[in-house]
Amino acid sequence: MTDVEIPADHPRYESLVTRHRIEAGIEKGITSRQGLIAQGRGEAFDYLLGERTIPSARAAERAAAALLLSADHPVLSVNGNVAALVPEEIVELAAATEADLEVNLFNRTEERMERIAEHLREHGATEVKGLAGDGRIPGLSHERATVDADGIGAADVVLVPLEDGDRAEALASTGKTEIVIDLNPGSRSSRSAAVPIVDNIVRAIPNVTRHARELSDAPIEELQYVIDSFDREEALEAAETAIRRGSFDDDGDAEADGRNDDAEANDE
Ligand code: ATP
Repeated sequence: MTDVEIPADHPRYESLVTRHRIEAGIEKGITSRQGLIAQGRGEAFDYLLGERTIPSARAAERAAAALLLSADHPVLSVNGNVAALVPEEIVELAAATEADLEVNLFNRTEERMERIAEHLREHGATEVKGLAGDGRIPGLSHERATVDADGIGAADVVLVPLEDGDRAEALASTGKTEIVIDLNPGSRSSRSAAVPIVDNIVRAIPNVTRHARELSDAPIEELQYVIDSFDREEALEAAETAIRRGSFDDDGDAEADGRNDDAEANDE
């Protein structure tokens, strides 16, 4: 995972491990340096959310699983941060929902595309899309628009974690159903998603997989019920309220101790 020694009893263990995974991703040539800035921004929101999966995110994760399972052609988009943080977990989610994996980069270079595809194969992926680059998302200029025609180009449901707001908006306007994972409930990406998951990707992806496994034999009516019961506006509002209320005590000090202890419990 990382070759940096972090004591497991450190109160901010998960956060530090995540940070080192991004660093390792940069060293391996799969994550861009801008990825560090995105990570820093995400960390700040995660800190305010208490570094846990809030109930509205749990509902979004279940709705996302139901959407992926009921889709004709689901695709999971993978960028440099996603590949660095959850390579094995995203491959598992693709298997659990029979979704395609597609490498999709804001700053597209063939070298980084290849490295990410190889990194995913090392973590169990059999087929990785994105390298053909023979399709386009309408409304975007240059390389930012490039996708695979038989991947994201042909998808009906797309999971776009940690996506640039401009691209998320353009993708949503094509009529595809978009699931976004983004810790900022006010970002354009979260705002343009049919299902915004306001949670750290390191918790969100395994949670969606777990829900997908639980729902794998569910009839389509039950999947539809899970999807229809999810209210995106309510979820975004709940996340904003959680951030405003914060995990700060009455004196305004962050509750630094044991922030991660209840992460599992909060998602049960
Ligand atoms: P906007 O959508 O407002 O235009 P942006 O395009 O500027 O945002 P980026 O700087 O590319 O967004 O950052 C991507 C987003 O990913 C940020 O909103 C950040 O909060 C979020 N993010 C970063 N790391 C994580 C993570 N580990 N898990 C979930 N979300 C994350």
